[in-house]
Amino acid sequence: RETSIDARAEPELPKRTVILTHADRIYWPDEGVTKEGLADYYTDVWTYMAPFVVQRPLALLRCPDGISGQHFFQKHAWKGLNESIVLIHDPKDEDDTPLISIDDLDGLLGLVQAGSLELHPWGVTVADWEHPETIIMDLDPGPNVPWERVIEAAEETRDRMRSAGLEAFVKTSGGKGLHVVSPLKPTAEWPAVKAFTKSIADQMAADSPERYVSTITKSKRQGKILIDYLRNQRGSTAVAPYSTRARPGAAVSMPLTWDELSPAIGPAYFTVNNTPTRLAALRSDPWEDFRAAAAPLEKAKSKKSGVR
Ligand code: ATP
Ligand code: MN
Ligand code: MN
Repeated sequence: RETSIDARAEPELPKRTVILTHADRIYWPDEGVTKEGLADYYTDVWTYMAPFVVQRPLALLRCPDGISGQHFFQKHAWKGLNESIVLIHDPKDEDDTPLISIDDLDGLLGLVQAGSLELHPWGVTVADWEHPETIIMDLDPGPNVPWERVIEAAEETRDRMRSAGLEAFVKTSGGKGLHVVSPLKPTAEWPAVKAFTKSIADQMAADSPERYVSTITKSKRQGKILIDYLRNQRGSTAVAPYSTRARPGAAVSMPLTWDELSPAIGPAYFTVNNTPTRLAALRSDPWEDFRAAAAPLEKAKSKKSGVR
C-alpha cells in the first residue's frame, strides 16, 4: 500500500474528535446501523449537509436506545451536552433557556453522542432570527395517494414558486412524502413568509380540491395531499437535508435533482446504508446552486399575479 501523501488524492475528511461512548449500540436493529455507523454516515455526508445545519437553531429527535426505545423531541439544551455543541439564545424567548446549534462536524457528532436520530432546523440562521432564509412546503399524502400524485404535487409547487420568483428544490422526507424547499434572501419577516406559503397552499387546494387540502383538519382525507405550509412560522422546524429518520429502514431525507423524481424513488428510498453509493456515483451536488438561487420574498410578491 502507498504511504506517501498525495496532494491530488481525496480531499481530507473534516476534523472528527468527539469520542463516542457505547459506539456499538444498535440504533436501527433491522438495518444493523450502530451509533458508530451513524457517525460514519454523517462524516460521509457532512460537506453536502453542512450548509443546511450549521449556525441554525436545531431541534432534535433523541432516541438514546435506538428507534425501538423512547423518542424525545427536544428543542432546548440540557446539562451535560458535549462541548462541541454551541448553546444559543432565542432573542424572543423570555425564560431564556438555551437552544442548540452546531458549527462543525464535531458538533453533529456531539449530537450523535447524545442519541440524536433526527435533526430539525428552523428556517433561519442564528445571525438573524426574524428573517427566514428557507421556505419548506411539506407535502403529506393521505391514505391511498399514489406516489405519482405526490411527484406531481411537488412539480406543481415548484412551478408556483417559480412563477412567484423563487427557485425550488426537492428532497425525500425519509418518511411518507416530499419536501419542496426554496432559498430566500433573508429580508422578509416570519408573518409575511407564512402568509406567502399559505397563499400557495390555499390556491393549490382551491384549484384542485380533488387533489389537495391546505388545512390540517382536512388532512386525513383519503386520497388527498396536505400542502403543509405550517413549517414556515417562527419556531417551527422541518427535518434537515441528509438527516436520518428514527423510523424502521434507516431512511434519510435526501436532496434530489428534479430529473431524479420518479416512481422508482419513493420517500424512504435513500438510507444510511445506500447513501455512500449514491454520493460516490454523483457527478455534482444535486442542490449545489441552492444558496446562490436565493431571492427576496418582496420580489416573489410583486410577481404574484401568476399565483393568485
Ligand atoms: P413525512 O413525509 O412522513 O410527513 P415529515 O418529516 O414531513 O415526514 P411531518 O409529520 O409532515 O413529517 O412533519 C412534522 C414536523 O413537525 C417535523 O419535521 C418536525 O420538525 C416538527 N415537529 C414538531 N414537533 C414535533 C414532535 N414532537 N415530534 C416530531 N416532529 C415534530
Ligand atoms: Mn411531511
Ligand atoms: Mn407535515
